[in-house]
Amino acid sequence: MTSAADPGAERTPRTTARGRGAIALGIIVLAVLTLWRVVLPARDGGPHDFTGATMGTTYTVRIDAPLTAGERATLADTIQARLAEVDALMSTWDTASELSRFNRHGSSEPFPVSPLMIEVMRIALDVGRQSGGAFDVTVAPLVDAWGFGPAGEPQNLPDERMLADLRARTGQDLVRIDSAHQALVKIDARTVLDLSAVAKGYGVDRVADALAASGLRSYLVEVGGELRVGGPKLDGTPWRIGVEQPDPGARRVHRTIDLVDAAVATSGDYRNFFERDGRRWAHIIDPRTGRPVPYAGASVTVLHDRAAVADAWATALTVLGPLQGLDVAERANLAVVFITRTDSGFVVSGSTRFGQRFDRAAPDTSQR
Ligand code: AMP
Ligand code: MG
Repeated sequence: MTSAADPGAERTPRTTARGRGAIALGIIVLAVLTLWRVVLPARDGGPHDFTGATMGTTYTVRIDAPLTAGERATLADTIQARLAEVDALMSTWDTASELSRFNRHGSSEPFPVSPLMIEVMRIALDVGRQSGGAFDVTVAPLVDAWGFGPAGEPQNLPDERMLADLRARTGQDLVRIDSAHQALVKIDARTVLDLSAVAKGYGVDRVADALAASGLRSYLVEVGGELRVGGPKLDGTPWRIGVEQPDPGARRVHRTIDLVDAAVATSGDYRNFFERDGRRWAHIIDPRTGRPVPYAGASVTVLHDRAAVADAWATALTVLGPLQGLDVAERANLAVVFITRTDSGFVVSGSTRFGQRFDRAAPDTSQR
């Protein structure tokens, strides 16, 4: 019986050489795909959030990228390690921190410090100079005297004589950086430093720099309200940040700002204040008077490439207030916006640079 005479043979065509090739290719593709899944574990599309506690506050990091479980775990460790490092260097609350050890060093001999401490001090002294002393890292004795330091509330608040005495021990020309020895030097051996107004921002920068170095493009890093974003989000749209209304009673977004590759810090008298003699006072000292900044229902938001610089400026501009602060911000070419409470509502005043770079910032009406 020939195949030609067999009708069944016509219905079942023999496998040709081309067909066999296609099957082999299919098997190879399947094998590669299977191997691929074994060798390269599944990626979760994200965004991925990492949260925790640091520097007496909380942090949130959002990474907008597909990550494997292993990559997630490594990034969580990196984030924690970077924040713990800044805390271990710059905390005034931790008696073993590098800063606390420098503060106890009662001598004008150079005190060797880490490169990170030198970097933060350069930023602090630079903002101190440009703000005419409104930002002052030597403000620690006044911070303690008013009861915002680690020791808590004192029995008696400082009187005029004590203030005069404490003010004589403050001023940033009482400390200098000795670059040759990578050290800090006290001009007055009693000088003590407080880096609380810049350290959170610096921690944000340290984390953001680590994420960028590991090849990530889209991320948001926030520590205690100071934040920095990398790139736009994965879908190409900017990160949208809410700026709060300076209102102690309500947590309301007053404005939103769209950000790409930028840092934002907000300072104000409305969130961290204390009440005494029927008045409210901010936890920020005006080094010119030695007294806390009186509550006025104001906030200032500063945008900059580096969160540490934005953080320091936000504190400095809170001391200066909207009028003088805007002048100083213009001179320093800063992008800042003040929100001030008045009898007829909140008044918003931005610097020229803020208007140029962030004119898309608009009052957010969705939460009213
Ligand atoms: P921030 O929340 O960034 O505005 O920092 C406020 C903290 O900075 C306060 O709790 C003080 O420890 C410290 N501080 C207060 N006044 C000043 C000042 N004029 N310059 C620098 N640091 C200050
Ligand atoms: Mg600050």
